[in-house]
Amino acid sequence: MLRASFDLVSPEATHALAQGLASVLKSGDVIALTGDLGAGKTTFVRGVVQAMGGDQSLVASPTFVFVHVYPIGRDTKRGSGATGRAKTNSTNPSSSDTAICRVSHIDAYRLTSAEDLEPLGWDRLFDEHSQAATGSVAFVEWPQRIAAHLPREGERADIVIEHLREGVRRFNVSLPDSWSGRAGVDLLLSRPPSVCPKTRQWVSPTNPSYPFLDERSRGGDLYGWLTESYKVSRAAKDDDADNSGE
Ligand code: ADP
Ligand code: MG
Repeated sequence: MLRASFDLVSPEATHALAQGLASVLKSGDVIALTGDLGAGKTTFVRGVVQAMGGDQSLVASPTFVFVHVYPIGRDTKRGSGATGRAKTNSTNPSSSDTAICRVSHIDAYRLTSAEDLEPLGWDRLFDEHSQAATGSVAFVEWPQRIAAHLPREGERADIVIEHLREGVRRFNVSLPDSWSGRAGVDLLLSRPPSVCPKTRQWVSPTNPSYPFLDERSRGGDLYGWLTESYKVSRAAKDDDADNSGE
C-alpha cells in the first residue's frame, strides 16, 4: 500500500485533500472511509463531488437510504499536476479508461447482514469483482459492515479519519500499489493541502500551481516581491547567494 497521513484543520482543508484524491481517481475505484460519527467522512465525499463538477449540495450522509448516486459533469477537469494525465498505460483498457460520470456514496452503518444488499440494487453499483460499476467510483462509509462485498484492503483505497480535537482531523490515506503509476499520486501523498499565500484559499496537493491557487495568484505574489511589499529582515550579505551545490 502507498501511505500518507495529514492533519487537516478545517472542512475546507479536507475539501482540498478530497480534490487531490478526485484528480487521481479512475472508473471502478472503491474508496473505504472509516471513522466515528462526525469524523468527516461525508465532508470528504462532498469535496470529491465538488471537485469533479457535481452538485455538492446534494451530498448528505445516506444513512437512512443507504446509497446516494451523484451525477458529475466532468471527464477531463483533473488538475493532476506537473506530469499531466496523458499516460494511461493500463494493461486493462476496459473500465478504468472510461470517464467517470457518477459517484456512488454508500453508508453501511445500518446494515446488519450481507443479505441486505441485493434488494438495494448492489448489482448496479458494483461489478462481479467488487469494483465500482463502469463509469462510476464508489465511496463507502462503515466498510467493515459489508467487508465481504468490497475489494480487499490493498485493492481499494482506504481513508481512516481520526478526530484529534475540535476542528482537527487526521486523515490516514492508503492507496493500492497499483495506483503508483497514476499521474498525481506522488504529489497527493508527498505534500499536504496548503493555503494559497495570495488568496488564502486552500489548495489541493495536485494543483499544478501549488502552493498557489492558480498562475494568476503566483504572478500577483511575484509582483509583490518585485515592488518590495515584502522585506527581508536584515541586509543581504555576500555569501547569501553562495548556497548552491548542497
Ligand atoms: P461523518 O460522515 O464521518 O459522520 P460528517 O462529514 O457528516 O461526518 O461531519 C463532520 C463534521 O465535522 C462536520 O460538521 C464538519 O464541518 C466538521 N469538521 C470540523 N473539522 C473538520 C475537518 N478538518 N474535516 C472534516 N470535517 C470537519
Ligand atoms: Mg456520514
